[in-house]
Amino acid sequence: MLSYLHAFHAGNFADVQKHAALTLALVMMQSKKTAMACFDTHAGSAIYDLTSERARKTAEADAGIHRLWSLRETLKSPDWQPMVALLDSLNEGAEALSLYPGSPAWLANFGRPGDSITAFELHPAEGKSLQAWAEQNSVRVQNEDGLKGLLKNLPPAQPRLLTLIDPSYEVKDEYGQVANTLAQAWKKCRHGVYLIWYPILTSGLQQSLIAGVESCGVRKVLRSEVMLDQPPERGMVGSGMLVVNPPWGFDQRLSDMLAELEGEARLGMSASLSWLVPE
Ligand code: SAM
Repeated sequence: MLSYLHAFHAGNFADVQKHAALTLALVMMQSKKTAMACFDTHAGSAIYDLTSERARKTAEADAGIHRLWSLRETLKSPDWQPMVALLDSLNEGAEALSLYPGSPAWLANFGRPGDSITAFELHPAEGKSLQAWAEQNSVRVQNEDGLKGLLKNLPPAQPRLLTLIDPSYEVKDEYGQVANTLAQAWKKCRHGVYLIWYPILTSGLQQSLIAGVESCGVRKVLRSEVMLDQPPERGMVGSGMLVVNPPWGFDQRLSDMLAELEGEARLGMSASLSWLVPE
């Protein structure tokens, strides 16, 4: 049974890191004209109301996107600008953010004619709101398991591929399943760019994903992590992204972006970046 609802977490520090990496990969890939197939294996419901009861119950966005928004005029890396521009237009120029885009909305915002976007979502209620939004946004929605669905769709018709794999990890097996799926997907489309999000937990459960990816034969895997300066005693203490086949120069540009989140006066975290598997 699926109980995770992203509305409780939308816009938190992990979303900031994840959507920064996703936006940067998209923008960099689109510097070439060739069409892209985009897959979002665990899509959620596309647009989140940051003023909703669910969002306010955890108030996680306060230390994430609300903080980043308050700093937007001081951000030095130009790579924050596409994110800031989408937030600004979604919130119709309002001073405070009330709406936050989930991953399918980030993908759709940058989609060009000829690109395709496929979003998988298994939760019935989330799938329904995703579908309603997708009809206005040229996004194909599949109410099926995203890992199996991705494999069925590879290789894509378009010359290039961008995939976001962002499970809720409600089931411990998911860490291993993600590594296995990546290995199979990579065999079907070796030049694809794959972004995989994972939580950094005090239990260390994420290690099976990292070890699985490290040993599955896939090459060129970048590992980006942000760690909270004041972590809880138990649970999620940081957020990680593995990026397979990042565009050339992506590592430095993402590193520059995430360095701006460091320090108590910023987002209260420290960022690191290294190659898990080199070329
Ligand atoms: N990617 C979204 C974003 O960045 O805005 C957040 C996604 S949330 C972390 C994970 C989503 O995956 C939830 O909405 C959950 O219902 C859905 N989900 C869980 N298991 C799934 C599966 N096997 N296939 C597809 N979706 C699944």
